[in-house]
Amino acid sequence: MTCSTPSKKYLEILSRKSVRLSKPTPKLIVLDLNSTLLHRSKKKRTRGTLRPYLKEFLQYLFDSTEGTSENFDFSVMVWSSARPQTVDALVDKAFGRYRSRLVAIWSRKKFGLNEHAYHRKVSVIKDLETVWDELNRHHNNHDGSSSESLNDGIYTSITFSPSTTPRSVPSTNNIIEMLPQAIDLDTINNTSSHIWDQTNTILIDDSPSKAVLQPYNAIHLLPFDSPRRQLAKDKELLNIIKYLEFLKYQDNISAYMKEHAYVSTEFNQEIAEKMN
Ligand SMILES: [Mg+2]
Repeated sequence: MTCSTPSKKYLEILSRKSVRLSKPTPKLIVLDLNSTLLHRSKKKRTRGTLRPYLKEFLQYLFDSTEGTSENFDFSVMVWSSARPQTVDALVDKAFGRYRSRLVAIWSRKKFGLNEHAYHRKVSVIKDLETVWDELNRHHNNHDGSSSESLNDGIYTSITFSPSTTPRSVPSTNNIIEMLPQAIDLDTINNTSSHIWDQTNTILIDDSPSKAVLQPYNAIHLLPFDSPRRQLAKDKELLNIIKYLEFLKYQDNISAYMKEHAYVSTEFNQEIAEKMN
């Protein structure tokens, strides 16, 4: 790993105060899988327990503005440090019919690890510059009019989408099964015309260490781990919906989140109890 502090450019844009807009603007949501949306089984890595309120969370991300006059969209992608085959299975489990609405599905292959590190438990950083480079380049090269690889080697299904908005795309009709050797899944469902950057991107990941390069673009929710799985009261995904309701109006996500970081309400309560 070369550098693990935010770039000068990041800090410069971070210093520009966010303005609350009268209407929401499109935002890119980068979702982690394990301990964020589900708890992955230790024995069978491709199995997992879904986090409470995941259904509501996905409905919010994908359907909340459907049929409304709000000119607003979340573009949603997955980036997990698990291997492609695991990611593929977990995305199926977590997203179901929403899978085809993801703008990209990224796995361990996108960390630029060498062969040795790829197969070992090493710490990784989700550098959002990689996301921005690739998604924006895709848009510039193709003007949103053709299928192009935005996925990284997940091979179960491949989706060809028309250049219409994802809302009009049937979620299952255009999936073609591919053989495992047909690496580089080509899925692009959202032909967004937006340039993604730190002003409009939100990483949702339970691990702060993965977000050190763009620390103020990340929501760190409480990990949905083994002990937490036993708790019926886990409401992190509902809490995040409430937080996103504020974020969607902001014109500089990084600056806003620096000033108003996401804090679990449950965590607030713990702090309050200690203070009393
Ligand atoms: Mg995680």
